[in-house]
Amino acid sequence: MTLPHKVLALHETMTMEAAFDGRPANLFTLINASGMTATFMDIGATWLSCTVPVRGEYGENSEAREVLLGCSTMAEHQQQSAYFGATVGRFANRIAQGHFTIDGKASQVAINQAGNTLHGGPEGYDKRRWTLDFQSNSKLVFSLLSEDGDQGFPGKLEVKVTFELTIDNTVAISYQAVCDKPCPVNLTNHAYFNLAGEDSDQDCLNHHVTLAADHFVPTSDVGIPTGELKSVEHTGFDFRKGKTIGCDLLVDPEQELAKGYDHAFILLPEMTDGISDFAKVVSPDQKVTMTVQTTKPAVQLYTGNFLSGTKGTSAEYGIHQGFCIETEYLPDAPNHPEWPGDSILRPNQTYAHSTGYRFTF
Ligand code: BGC
Repeated sequence: MTLPHKVLALHETMTMEAAFDGRPANLFTLINASGMTATFMDIGATWLSCTVPVRGEYGENSEAREVLLGCSTMAEHQQQSAYFGATVGRFANRIAQGHFTIDGKASQVAINQAGNTLHGGPEGYDKRRWTLDFQSNSKLVFSLLSEDGDQGFPGKLEVKVTFELTIDNTVAISYQAVCDKPCPVNLTNHAYFNLAGEDSDQDCLNHHVTLAADHFVPTSDVGIPTGELKSVEHTGFDFRKGKTIGCDLLVDPEQELAKGYDHAFILLPEMTDGISDFAKVVSPDQKVTMTVQTTKPAVQLYTGNFLSGTKGTSAEYGIHQGFCIETEYLPDAPNHPEWPGDSILRPNQTYAHSTGYRFTF
């Protein structure tokens, strides 16, 4: 099967210039029998592109719809601070003041946003060149060695991320990690979706979202949890019955602080078996549906509140141009051991989590 034109173009434009280490990125595209594609690169173990074949307006030939936001050149990719499609670590989301204590031993990790640590610090895993360990027609495995003291985190962490494009149109992502000292570990993917199409000129507010979560995590004006786990009942955070993202946008004081949704939702435990659909998102034209499965206890729903002015493949993006469904442990979890899920990885354990994004078109 031949690759869509826009995927071939991305391979060319992204590798025209060298990455931070003087060598061009390596790009890999998986394609399945339905003609869906998923493209990844070794810089940041980044999910760069995802095209789904959708029917033309009169039921004619299908076109490849790009459903991920992203950049088409390395210069733009390295400039953006949106974390487009990156594998985020060692600890996704925020750690208050970059400080935590495990077994009485305090750690101070590098701070990079408003006095706190976001997405693993200034030189997070999104900014590394990962090693390709395995490649087949449907699967890629990348690995990274993160030294003891990397960004201040204790212990040497060996990480593997596996990307698979299945015959049932799922981009299945699984993470494995081991560490030689107790350390908080929270690995996620930071893809921004726009199921209407990256080049559709539409923001994400007309996407219809259903989310199996009874509680969310209110945060301060710099995104740090207040400590409360709040019921979604009678708030704009209630997506249990399904509604558009725009329906209750900015109705809550918590959303005003974050300029929209940028909050963790605690998933119903029975939905975190890695098989159940905890989330369902339908494109405005109803031609593309995405369901999400995970083994993680929570998910950050982020509606691109800070995307404005970011140069993307087809245009300069505006606020809410895409949304992220980042499966994870709760933000600042190392400082809240009382919360669901244990974010501390210990030397005798293996971190093992998976998330699937399944597309119907
Ligand atoms: C965070 C946002 C942040 C974005 C890009 C999201 O995961 O929750 O607050 O702006 O990542 O850095």
